Amino acid sequence: MIEMNSTTAPQIRICTQMPVPSGLEGEAIKLALLENPSNLNSSTDPTRRIINRLWPRDRLLSVRLLGGTLSQRNKVHRYATAWTKHANLRLTFVDKDPAEIRVRFDPEKGTWSYIGTDALVVAQELPTMNFSWLGDGDDDAAARIVMHVFGHALGLVHEHRNEEGGIPWDRPAVCDYYKKTFEWSEDEVKKHIFDYYERDLSQFSSSVKGGSIMRFEVPDSMTTKHPIGETDGDFVNSCYPGMTGSMGIVEMHIDKGVASKTIEVEFPHKFMEPPGVAIGLKEINLVSGFPVVKVGVCEVSKENFQLDIHRPKEVAADVACNWMAIDTDDPDIQFGYSSTTNLTKILNLEQSSEYYDSVNFQRPFKSPPKVVIFLNDFDLTRGVIPRIAASVSTITTSGFYLTVKSWKQTQIHSAGVTWIAHSGDRADISSGTISTHDVRSLESQLRTSGSAGFSGMNCKTPPRVFMGFRKLNTYSSPPLHVRVGVEGISTTSFKWVIEGLDKCEVFTASADYILFA
Ligand SMILES: [Zn+2]
Repeated sequence: MIEMNSTTAPQIRICTQMPVPSGLEGEAIKLALLENPSNLNSSTDPTRRIINRLWPRDRLLSVRLLGGTLSQRNKVHRYATAWTKHANLRLTFVDKDPAEIRVRFDPEKGTWSYIGTDALVVAQELPTMNFSWLGDGDDDAAARIVMHVFGHALGLVHEHRNEEGGIPWDRPAVCDYYKKTFEWSEDEVKKHIFDYYERDLSQFSSSVKGGSIMRFEVPDSMTTKHPIGETDGDFVNSCYPGMTGSMGIVEMHIDKGVASKTIEVEFPHKFMEPPGVAIGLKEINLVSGFPVVKVGVCEVSKENFQLDIHRPKEVAADVACNWMAIDTDDPDIQFGYSSTTNLTKILNLEQSSEYYDSVNFQRPFKSPPKVVIFLNDFDLTRGVIPRIAASVSTITTSGFYLTVKSWKQTQIHSAGVTWIAHSGDRADISSGTISTHDVRSLESQLRTSGSAGFSGMNCKTPPRVFMGFRKLNTYSSPPLHVRVGVEGISTTSFKWVIEGLDKCEVFTASADYILFA
């Protein structure tokens, strides 16, 4: 990014990719690989063999603003976060150390940033980024500059192509600028500027033209309102694609008279390959009280998936379910679906039902994993109290036993359960079960709440929660309307609630959860 203000006396406004301090190059490479092993680019072409400086996917980066006017701080806050729409990274603005990105606003010190993980070699008391100008009231210019410089902080380098004759440097002016601003010698200017830009460099496989925000030269005429172009967005997405633990909640309404409905759900970040999608029911509102509902995932792509809902078409229904994407090659987590249509009915009692399944993992775990289960669908006897519970037993490295049962007068016509198994030695994943039994006995109640701790987890910010019912036993009168939810969450515990709505009292209910830091 370079702007010449006047042709007669060029005042250089140049963005500098800050090289790591002399002597710390080896440390910078070590940290880049430690932080994200895939930074090792093992190209056979030696000219392309570079160590990238990308952060790991889903990395939470803390940004600390050192000074600056309110307007400058607001601009950085507003435009920097625009990247997170495209990149599977999280930015949090903090007002004390530690912070990976530290932003200064010194008009004398040039506009620059370290590239990605190189910021880790810089002492905490020093900035990793500086803005010497921020568009001065021009929001479009400010947006371009902030996004461009934060592109560097995410690991992107200048996009440039050597036109015939190269960049028309005013060499003395450039040397003068770098001497005054960074105290660079002529050799350093040659190495970091003139030599660097003699090489063609393109991170974007398609074309440099079309206005990438990372282009080195930004013409004055470039005044797009949405400075992150498609190429930038796609490229940064390919550096930071979606991953296991990406999750959300879908609320679905289905009208009376319609047998089923399909909803398309977009992933927040595109995946490299279509992931698996696990779902769990977290709110059910069946107006008729007919205890019948079925939600299922179909057609998963890299960008989105389809969610189907079915239930008897005589009545309207509202359902909310949690979804979670799981990388199919994730070594630490697997999931699957079990349906009673494939299960063995072990008890043929006159009135209640009990089904049993022996579930095998697709790949064995190193040690017995933790397993959580979620009801996806059920079809129970109408006109009696809905009673259904799923449970897990005998977990080994290769599988577990799943039981789905009803009791008293309730029979299961069909039911489906999603299971998620995860290795227990990951400090960023935790799971468990919450139950009305944890806090009260079996009298019916509208609202039950409690708290669950996860102090063993390593959380810098409150984790994401995936939650869904595994057991339900509610009052039978229509409607059947229950929900499970999280009311507050910290870095060590969360407060949950299980609630019957529209006078639907809950005798007992339990839900499983899985947390991602
Ligand atoms: Zn730049």
